[in-house]
Amino acid sequence: MMNVPLTVGSLLERAEKYFPKKTVVSRTHSGIQRFTYKEIGERTRRLMSAIKKLGLQTGERAGTMAWNHHRHLETYFAIPGMHAVLHTINIRLSPEHIVYIINHAEDQVLFIDEDLVPLVEKIADQIPTVKAFIIMTDQAELPKTTLQPAYSYEQLLAEGNPQEAFMTDIDENDLAGMCYTSATTGNPKGVIYSHRGIVLHSYALGLADTTALSESDVAMPVVPMFHVNAWGMPFANTWFGSTQVLPGPRFTPKVLAELIAEEGVTITAGVPTIWLGLLKELETGNYNTSSLRAVLCGGSAAPRGIIHAFETKFKVPFLHAFGMTETSPLATVARLKSYQSDLSEEEKLDQRAKQGMIVPGLEMKVINDQGEVNWDGADMGELLIRGPWIADEYYRDDRTEQAFQDGWLYTGDVATVDEEGVIKLVDRTKDLIKSGGEWISSVDLENALMGHEAVFEASVVAVPHPEWQERPVACIVLKDGFDEETMKQELMDYLSPQFAKWWLPDDIIFMKEIPKTSVGKFLKRELRAQLEDYFMKQN
Ligand code: ADP
Repeated sequence: MMNVPLTVGSLLERAEKYFPKKTVVSRTHSGIQRFTYKEIGERTRRLMSAIKKLGLQTGERAGTMAWNHHRHLETYFAIPGMHAVLHTINIRLSPEHIVYIINHAEDQVLFIDEDLVPLVEKIADQIPTVKAFIIMTDQAELPKTTLQPAYSYEQLLAEGNPQEAFMTDIDENDLAGMCYTSATTGNPKGVIYSHRGIVLHSYALGLADTTALSESDVAMPVVPMFHVNAWGMPFANTWFGSTQVLPGPRFTPKVLAELIAEEGVTITAGVPTIWLGLLKELETGNYNTSSLRAVLCGGSAAPRGIIHAFETKFKVPFLHAFGMTETSPLATVARLKSYQSDLSEEEKLDQRAKQGMIVPGLEMKVINDQGEVNWDGADMGELLIRGPWIADEYYRDDRTEQAFQDGWLYTGDVATVDEEGVIKLVDRTKDLIKSGGEWISSVDLENALMGHEAVFEASVVAVPHPEWQERPVACIVLKDGFDEETMKQELMDYLSPQFAKWWLPDDIIFMKEIPKTSVGKFLKRELRAQLEDYFMKQN
């Protein structure tokens, strides 16, 4: 067979050629704008020529600090398209970590959304590799800034060449993108994506048994474009010619609900906390969500209760998937097999709340001290994954050795596998609760709690215990109108029949908000610290 390199630029070239009329709907600071793929293609080519003129060289990194919108989409293709490396920076990291990753990646150029300029101004004297700041704004004038030299994105485009060609002389194994993932301790770890990995991952998103992305979709990635490339959707959706809806800066659940209804979104993707917020908004009853064929949920376990609520109350199909920054991210998807149609509704929901089966193209195994675990849904071990869109190192980082061994990625996630080969994540190694030598899954308790009608959010963490080593404590945010005093006992009574006695939380603590990570997951490290304070004060 021919050995034709798989390159990122070719994805947009296809959209330009075959879907010039299809559109990208982009919400920016000044409202909603619409562009055809013909226009996006031309703008991307202009951008490519402009950043070459600014001096960006093959293999060098260009950072982006931006929300989900058309300009960010253009950088997705212009930077790899000229054989440089797209480094999407998580703007919600601490300033210290942002400084670290810009320096570690040695970014030469930074693309910055106008509202994030003040953030960059504060760190500008600590990022010496950056030679140009390109500001993304709808305004004709650049905002006042101390950043030097600062360029207007639109001005650069105006001066660029609309026919600039995507580079073809690219080895498909060359770097196309990078994204840093937060570590439990220490600095973030850099994951690098090759052209080949991105293209193969895009194929995977198009399979009928995974997310089935296609031309007929109106796809809205809510997951940020600075978090694992918005799960690869901008690449795949462009390639397939789908309509894309990019929800822009600082959106609220209301904005998302309106975009779904007004643009006829068919598939949207994000972490469970986003869907909890959307669910609350949909309950106002003001929105038509009948266009949705899938709400794709990953990043943390999808609570059974959310799946049930979306599907029964709003007739919106829910799709649970698992992945990591290191896995591009699509790794497993929870779908029923055709012969499982006769399961009861409860059993179906149980199965679909698991993380699912490894997608075609990847391999997985779950191991513990005795070797590979039995596929019995009970034996627990660490999940290992390998395949052509799985990273094989952390960028210039000696933590590589621990996570990548014998050709496998050690995920740090503890899982079981059932007879069908479906994995269920029990916990992250670091979040498992070790009580009296046995393991308690915080995830199982959280999912059960979030199935209760009074619970908005629940997070269960370990607190140190003199006798049992660790014990679970549940932190709960109640929905409006429920009373803390009465709910404490009611929630305990609700959990009792579902779990062994020693699994039940020692305490339930009510909070106004659960601290979250930069990508909207429950921040258990912070929660554990808060609880330590809480118990110290009580004793
Ligand atoms: P981090 O959360 O460490 O910043 P990632 O976004 O790469 O980085 O998160 C990957 C981790 O998120 C996985 O290792 C796993 O623990 C968790 N995760 C992802 N998807 C799911 C899911 N569907 N269910 C449970 N946990 C998930």
